[in-house]
Amino acid sequence: MRRLIMMGAGHAHLIVLKYWVAAPLKDVEVVLVTPSQWQYYSGMIPGWIAGHYSVEQCRIDAWSLAQKAGARIVLNSVAEVRADQKQIRLANGDLLDYDWLSIDVGAKTALGSLRGYAGPLLSIKPFGQFQQHWSRHLDSSGARRAHLALVGGGAAGAELAMAAARAGRTGAALAARISLVTGSQGLLPDFHPRIRKLAYTKLAALGIQIFEQRAEAAGHDLVLTDGAILRPDLVMAATGSEAFSFLATSGLAVDARGFVLVNEHQQSRSHPEVFAAGDVCSRSDQSLSRSGVHAVRAAPVLAENLRAATESGAFTAFQPRTHSLYLLSCGDKTAIGSYGPLAFSGRWVWRLKDKIDRRFVGGF
Ligand SMILES: Cc1cc2nc3c(=O)[nH]c(=O)nc-3n(C[C@H](O)[C@H](O)[C@H](O)COP(=O)(O)OP(=O)(O)OC[C@H]3O[C@@H](n4cnc5c(N)ncnc54)[C@H](O)[C@@H]3O)c2cc1C
Repeated sequence: MRRLIMMGAGHAHLIVLKYWVAAPLKDVEVVLVTPSQWQYYSGMIPGWIAGHYSVEQCRIDAWSLAQKAGARIVLNSVAEVRADQKQIRLANGDLLDYDWLSIDVGAKTALGSLRGYAGPLLSIKPFGQFQQHWSRHLDSSGARRAHLALVGGGAAGAELAMAAARAGRTGAALAARISLVTGSQGLLPDFHPRIRKLAYTKLAALGIQIFEQRAEAAGHDLVLTDGAILRPDLVMAATGSEAFSFLATSGLAVDARGFVLVNEHQQSRSHPEVFAAGDVCSRSDQSLSRSGVHAVRAAPVLAENLRAATESGAFTAFQPRTHSLYLLSCGDKTAIGSYGPLAFSGRWVWRLKDKIDRRFVGGF
């Protein structure tokens, strides 16, 4: 039987599998390779830190879903893709051949200038590992007296800082001091000025100190661009994404940063039997931000095109919308929202986010 390998149980693949529960692929063995039974829903991670959700509420059981979709599950990581041989190598050394390959492994945290930091450093990804390390940190005796430094001025860094600042039923901070080091472009550089203003005001109200500078690791210190030194007890890195190194040596066409290059069908520019969606890929015809929204929206098209590839049908193009709804939780059951130039905030925005997020996870 011909084989389709699905690499990673990322947001896009979960939705693809959901489609196939109702209408499985014909005469194709589907194999899902994932290092964990669980896929964490990133949109709820700040809410988990803030104490709004349990871990169980933020994750999806990829194993059960794959079983329902008739896929075979291999609990392992892909260590190598040999695109010219239509083969992957797993971390345990096993080789698997494929007829078609679909890649949705996301990206890893780009540590950049934090590499080599000698103190405790938590990377936000992979989420499963982050969740365990953060829980262990909170259980340690000095956690509430600690200085926590978030590095990264994007939505993730801002949300995590706010979650730590006003967490739990009491609304007490999870650290004595919280610093947010954003880089020279400041907070939320990719967002509209209106939402940036709302975020600056909220972070200030929560007592979070913002440093609009680049941080460089030097032993246990973070040296800022102006020479100032921070010596936090814990550094949390939300410093953007970088491609997994095995993609650069895969033989697949990749962009300058090592992400898989795909066309409007989510199909590899070099190997037509390979597809990719989510943070792992870059469109060759347009620039898209790396966000769960795009991974989720590309999923129905990926599902259709994998069916078309395996059943010799016609491909569909993925047309991303001009604007997407972004909702940033503020840790205190309020949220800031943006849709294009529109910016809004308040309790109702958090309730909307809570509803959307719960519905997404509950849908599995
Ligand atoms: C704190 C935080 C909050 C965020 N909130 C939002 C939000 O509200 N809205 C939004 O749109 N975006 C949000 N994002 C961004 C969002 O998380 C990503 O864009 C999204 O997860 C990308 O989805 P994906 O399908 O590409 O991959 P992922 O969701 O990252 O999933 C990839 C999967 O592949 C697996 N994998 C990795 N390597 C391998 C391998 N070698 N072999 C097999 N499997 C592998 C991983 O274990 C994982 O399960 C947030 C990010 C962070 C850090």
